[in-house]
Amino acid sequence: MNLQTLKKLTDTYKQTHEMPVLFIGHGSPMNGIEDNTYSRSWQELGNELPQPVAVLVISAHWLTRGTHVTAMAHPKTIHDFRGFPHELFEVNYPVPGSLPIALETQQLITSTNVGLDHDWGLDHGSWTVVRHMYPEANIPVLQLSIDYNKPAAYHYELAKELAALRKKGVLILGSGNMVHNLRMIAWDHMDKPEYGYDWALTMNEAFKKNILEHTHQNLIQYERLGSAASLAIPTPDHYYPLLYTLGLQSEQDQVLFFNDKAVGGSLTMTSVLLSR
Ligand code: ZN
Repeated sequence: MNLQTLKKLTDTYKQTHEMPVLFIGHGSPMNGIEDNTYSRSWQELGNELPQPVAVLVISAHWLTRGTHVTAMAHPKTIHDFRGFPHELFEVNYPVPGSLPIALETQQLITSTNVGLDHDWGLDHGSWTVVRHMYPEANIPVLQLSIDYNKPAAYHYELAKELAALRKKGVLILGSGNMVHNLRMIAWDHMDKPEYGYDWALTMNEAFKKNILEHTHQNLIQYERLGSAASLAIPTPDHYYPLLYTLGLQSEQDQVLFFNDKAVGGSLTMTSVLLSR
């Protein structure tokens, strides 16, 4: 992360009052408790971005039928993983929710009926990142679910309906991984933590190019990007959160990439900050 750039973005915010929008590559749940380059970049974002009134996360780990927004006063910390150290299961991130913002989200989205959810909470796609950004747990966090029966274009269009929240101080954060193929993790390259297969690096560049050039149609129709794309996105769960971020990207937004790295061969941590 480039601190100078971030500071400049913060100054811009003072003039436009449009909150930045994020896509975060969340990677391993261990990033939730580790002190590493990823968790430090998230901490830096929390310090440097304008303070939001709330964070609305679209996480790869909340796939539903229909679209739902968390509406409880105290979303629980969900430990939705297996085979990790005890320490990770003991994390509690006691942030408040926000019924008013849940209601506002529900009203803003008119293309479908958004349900108010009282059962979910914060899955690891959201808390492993946000607890580093706002360690004091004083900023309300909500999640919007991904209707997994719907195609890519649906998610991209739905995101546009959230644009008004940006003007009201809500930080919208897509959390997934652009390249995410767990079956192909390069166990034989674990000595090189930032190793990426050729196809993963090719797709990483293709994603960045299309984001910079605002050629979103290519990213919505990702299946047409060839065999590298089908390896990078074997299932779209970790990719759809990016489409929510991009749905909110306007021509005036500056684009900053960070954590632009591959891990384990078949994953990228590449993240995007949109700001104007
Ligand atoms: Zn994940």
